Amino acid sequence: MQTIATTPIRDVITAQRQFFATGKTKDIAFRLTQLHNLYQAIKNREDAIYAALKADLNKPNVEAYYEIVVTRDIKAAIKNLKSWTKPQKLPIPLEQFPAQALRVPEPLGVVLIVGAWNYPFNLIIAPLIGAIAAGNCAVIKPSELSPHTSRLIAEIIGETFPPHYITVVEGGIDMSQQLLAEKFDYIFFTGSPRVGKIVMEAAAKHLTPVTLELGGKSPCIVTEDVNIEVAAKRIVWGKFVNAGQTCIAPDYLLVQQGVKAQLLAAIKAAIIEFYGNEPANSPDYGRIINHSHWQRLTGLLDGGEIIVGGQINPDERYLSPTVMDNVSLEAAVMQEEIFGPILPVMGYGELSEAIDQINRLPKPLALYIFSHNPNHQEQILQQTSSGTVCINDTLVHFITSNLPFGGVGNSGMGSCHGKASFDTFSHYKSILKRSFLFDVDLRYPPYRDKLSWLKRLLGG
Ligand code: NAD
Repeated sequence: MQTIATTPIRDVITAQRQFFATGKTKDIAFRLTQLHNLYQAIKNREDAIYAALKADLNKPNVEAYYEIVVTRDIKAAIKNLKSWTKPQKLPIPLEQFPAQALRVPEPLGVVLIVGAWNYPFNLIIAPLIGAIAAGNCAVIKPSELSPHTSRLIAEIIGETFPPHYITVVEGGIDMSQQLLAEKFDYIFFTGSPRVGKIVMEAAAKHLTPVTLELGGKSPCIVTEDVNIEVAAKRIVWGKFVNAGQTCIAPDYLLVQQGVKAQLLAAIKAAIIEFYGNEPANSPDYGRIINHSHWQRLTGLLDGGEIIVGGQINPDERYLSPTVMDNVSLEAAVMQEEIFGPILPVMGYGELSEAIDQINRLPKPLALYIFSHNPNHQEQILQQTSSGTVCINDTLVHFITSNLPFGGVGNSGMGSCHGKASFDTFSHYKSILKRSFLFDVDLRYPPYRDKLSWLKRLLGG
């Protein structure tokens, strides 16, 4: 196994630049082989991935599988790579004839991928697929807060690729800052808006383009006409999977007053059905990543009336699935992304009140609408802005590979998944190929009375 733990960062990047300059990564056959290799490496280490995610987050295997199923994206990239890399022919204006206008994707060079800890495997491998497919070299920095998964990613990558092509640099904030001081050709960052700003500032020094996959408070609106039981199950699943530590977890609920009591009862029933009366004993319920996040979350519990859960155990970093009613908009729980198993619920009368509340906060990463009424759906879609929307379900739009995933405003910029990942790591070079036929001299000086002819020809 090759690792670069002791190699200075700059040497790693220089080695990758030299390898990129050989042009080898541009070869489509080379890229396909690397995608196959990555696929096989993940398949070979599947059990170890379950174990690492269990050690870092107490993730049940079913939930870990949502991360591993990123292999589907590798298969899709392999299947579509030829069509993705094909030059796109574009129409040309009459006066350019005969000519060809083309858009040709080319790799960017050496890219940096920095990950977060909550889906630590997926959040590294998903962008890496795009980086490989597009023909780049990559330096990867997984989150230090999920150390088992970080180590395993370093092993898998070290066993599969030479470090002058793809390599993992493990470490925390210091390492991240060392990397950010270097010049990359692209930075793909997943994490908080706070650190996103640091990344963008560092990237600006080198004019390096970025994708920022950030977070925020993703609202969930429930109107009065839905199937309450199904809505409750989908909300409870989306909120409490991974103990609420999901960037697109429904952060808070806005429920039409008339169905609020019924929905709360159904949510309570769904929590018991999923995790039992003692979620602490459920093999299917996760734990908070570390003590400081656990402390931050328990500090949010006084923002309203706890109607479900609220049980804590610092030794296990446990916080039970918790639902809060009568939450004040000024409470801390409504000021920051919760990123844990606490669900504040607020009632609304008119739909416009719920929309106003959403628009009071920065643009979210995801917006959930539970409603049968197409007019209500449309009103919300028209009057709000969010990175993504999922209607009548939660989270599953993330694993709908053909749907680009990303934020807007405070929740990020750029997108990934499927072809969007390939596009992210490509530069589309515009090429106009002209011929030597017909050298119309209208454009050449001396201009004399050519303007009127030029106007007729170009027709602007
Ligand atoms: P974070 O921003 O604290 O850390 C992310 C990465 O940045 C880590 O690798 C970390 O080492 C590095 N980092 C941390 N502080 C840094 C600094 N000062 N300078 C340079 N690098 C630094 O985020 P996190 O706690 O790992 O993840 C939680 C956040 O990520 C939440 O806001 C969540 O919504 C968001 N998130 C977004 C997505 C998405 O796809 N949009 C996915 C998962 C998580």
